[in-house]
Amino acid sequence: MNEEVEGVDSDCIFCSIASKRTEADIAHESKNAIFFHDISPKAAVHIVGIPKKHIVSLAGIGEEDRELVSEMIFEVARAARKLGLNEEGYRVITNVGNNAGQEVKHLHWHILGGERLGALN
Ligand code: AMP
Ligand code: ZN
Repeated sequence: MNEEVEGVDSDCIFCSIASKRTEADIAHESKNAIFFHDISPKAAVHIVGIPKKHIVSLAGIGEEDRELVSEMIFEVARAARKLGLNEEGYRVITNVGNNAGQEVKHLHWHILGGERLGALN
């Protein structure tokens, strides 16, 4: 039987988290997106938000992903609100490709907060 599911990369750690094959500390979930605590946090609160569909990065989105990307940003805001980050503020980052040091090749947004963050550069 062919077990390949469309939009899922069987070698991808974030696809594995999205399908609950790999455990993660889930903070928020919507129909097409899932948010979990980063395993190696870079701030007091560090959440990673991913679409359940495997897309490499913003460099890999197509016209068919327009609604999904929009939902992702909406859910980023909902997750941050849920985590109590609204009042003091937070930072949202998505790394794209080598120059940004993207390690996991599955589109994701970092939500960083819970403390005063350093300047970007
Ligand atoms: P990036 O450098 O933008 O690709 O970030 C990937 C992020 O995913 C890093 O901050 C990692 O600490 C995080 N990460 C990798 N594997 C896991 C995992 N299994 N559970 C939670 N976070 C992870
Ligand atoms: Zn993936």
